[in-house]
Amino acid sequence: MRTGKKILVVEDSKMFGHAITEKIITELGYTTSLATTYGDAQQVLHDNNDGFFAAVLDLILPDAPNGEVVDYVLEKEIPTIVLTSTFSYAMREECVSKNIVDYIVKEGPHSLDNLIKTLRRLEANTSTKILVVDDSKLSRKTITDLLLRHRFITFEAPDGKTALTILSKHPDIRAVITDYEMPNMDGFTLIEKMRQTHSMDQMAIIGVSGSGGSIMSAKFLKKGANDFIVKPFCNEEFFLRINQNLQMLDYLETIRETAVRDHLTGLYNRRYFFEIGQTLFKNALRKSFNIVLAMIDIDFFKNVNDTFGHGAGDEVLSQVATILADHFRSSDVVARLGGEEFCVMAPNMAQDHAFRIFDELRSTIEAQPFSTKAGQIKATVSIGLTLQTGESLEDALAKADQLLYQAKEQGRNQVIAA
Ligand code: GH3
Ligand code: MG
Ligand code: MG
Ligand code: MG
Repeated sequence: MRTGKKILVVEDSKMFGHAITEKIITELGYTTSLATTYGDAQQVLHDNNDGFFAAVLDLILPDAPNGEVVDYVLEKEIPTIVLTSTFSYAMREECVSKNIVDYIVKEGPHSLDNLIKTLRRLEANTSTKILVVDDSKLSRKTITDLLLRHRFITFEAPDGKTALTILSKHPDIRAVITDYEMPNMDGFTLIEKMRQTHSMDQMAIIGVSGSGGSIMSAKFLKKGANDFIVKPFCNEEFFLRINQNLQMLDYLETIRETAVRDHLTGLYNRRYFFEIGQTLFKNALRKSFNIVLAMIDIDFFKNVNDTFGHGAGDEVLSQVATILADHFRSSDVVARLGGEEFCVMAPNMAQDHAFRIFDELRSTIEAQPFSTKAGQIKATVSIGLTLQTGESLEDALAKADQLLYQAKEQGRNQVIAA
């Protein structure tokens, strides 16, 4: 995947420099510019001043023995990752004080893996929104500058009321960093209000305060903050905490997703289908909107397995699933109920269009040769389609099943609707 992102690499060892650029190109699909001296790097940036997504810099170069290249690139406001071979406490302090994204010690192949990890995180940051709430303009700016250097999307609020307005406009904000003492509404009240709409596993809240000691941090956590940072803090701690909290949200999301998804096809699983189905049918009856429900079953699928093997059968299943997922709106529920049987639940699908929509699906599948390791495979599906919501999910399923049976009886590869 080429994203068009460009990375500046400055490294005086040609061999290591090439190893870095090679890895960035193959693993991330970015493009790179490689410079081997400070002079080269200046020339590259002079010729090509904008458009670098990040820079990977060797701290010590023959013509820049004191990290001059780092200061130079930071001045151009390019997010910077520093590579060092020797590492001392003083050097670490200096790196961290410079507002670089990360420093990586060159000590074997895994340092390159760390570099790739850091670049991936930087890319993820470009779509991650963080809100900074603090009544002190200077504090806000300090934190925002740090976040921007790591390519986050940032929002600033001088008080709780503004913070809530921003959050309602951008409900996908992933983290909030909030001060405690603020006029009108303190940090604790703000957290309580934010937690009414955003749970701890959806959005991280990190409290920041210079006063109050450990009582303050306990109170923040008790009110629903995920974490707490004491002012003044060092940049390194700040980002370790931000990244840890964001990573935790990602893990939780993955866990939530795996619980509702079918492993082979990525469609919703049976358990989730029945859970969401019950809710949808209740709402449909109460608010009188219509639900169209279809049972879809692959024809003679046993033959596919017998002829091409179970592995090829799996490949056909997941390709059929992709066609299904692409064919419907995101508000429609597409699930694998088991085996080679799928179900689609479409709230508010116009009844007079439903047959056409499902018949198009049927003919799309019929028209495919599915490419598998065992060769090209053709497949068809039979579909039983209920156009009326009916009394309950169970009723609708039973009716769709009956119609599916008819479709099979009447020769397969067809839609029967009622
Ligand atoms: P019909 O047209 O009547 O539906 O015939 P069929 O062969 O598709 O139906 P049958 O219910 O007899 O067989 C379904 C087959 O689907 C048998 C089973 O081995 C296969 N199957 C079920 N789950 C999976 C799976 O996860 N992977 C693979 N490869 N095959 C599966
Ligand atoms: Mg304050
Ligand atoms: Mg079948
Ligand atoms: Mg079946």
